[in-house]
Amino acid sequence: MDFSIERRRLVEKLVMEGVIRSEKVKKAMLSVPREEFVPKEYKRWAYFDEPLPIGFGQTISAPHMVALMTEALDPKPGDKTLEIGTGSGYQAAILAEIVAKNSLNKEGHVYTIERIPELAEFARRNLERTSYIRYVTVIVGDGSLGYSKEASYDGIIVTAAAPDIPKPLIEQLVVGGRLVIPVGDSGLQRLYIVTKKDNNTIDVKEDIYCLFVPLIGKYGWK
Ligand code: SAM
Repeated sequence: MDFSIERRRLVEKLVMEGVIRSEKVKKAMLSVPREEFVPKEYKRWAYFDEPLPIGFGQTISAPHMVALMTEALDPKPGDKTLEIGTGSGYQAAILAEIVAKNSLNKEGHVYTIERIPELAEFARRNLERTSYIRYVTVIVGDGSLGYSKEASYDGIIVTAAAPDIPKPLIEQLVVGGRLVIPVGDSGLQRLYIVTKKDNNTIDVKEDIYCLFVPLIGKYGWK
């Protein structure tokens, strides 16, 4: 199976549908091999635009959702970025392509947090095999608390659904920084694009409806 042909076909479809809007997201989606981030038995479906199981009741998100969330975050070369919900490591690799790998002299980095240790290990192996690990730090923990050790972040992306916007995530954003997060219960969620205007003000734009696994933690679901 020639995955590079399949990858190009999928990216062209996402461009035609208007999901991929920028050159940087297009380039990242063309560069990261999704087949290296799914379990072996699902490789042949790597370029179906669908979420796929990665074990422990979790999924790697559908490519259109990864593209859409990355466009919404609008990461820049050199950005310090936090992802909550590492899963397979695929979204982290897409972010790493933009903020770190192609950032010339700027030192961007991706921090990503996963609550299930076995999945964090799965992601670490995938990121090592694809050489993205030098740009990505995988942490095991409750990402609803953010990761204060490396704060502040230019951008934060949450790939699990929260009941509300977790306060620590706003605190850990730089002024002008952006948080992309699905908010809602297991039946219906909405993607929120949150911009930190100043230390006391946020702007919340409610985007598309979506369906994610729950964010479980102190500022998530119990
Ligand atoms: N971004 C992932 C990828 O590229 O494969 C897909 C993420 S999957 C839809 C959501 C992930 O969030 C799951 O792996 C789940 O275990 C994780 N998760 C849920 N609550 C969490 C929390 N409080 N902190 C960190 N990870 C969490």
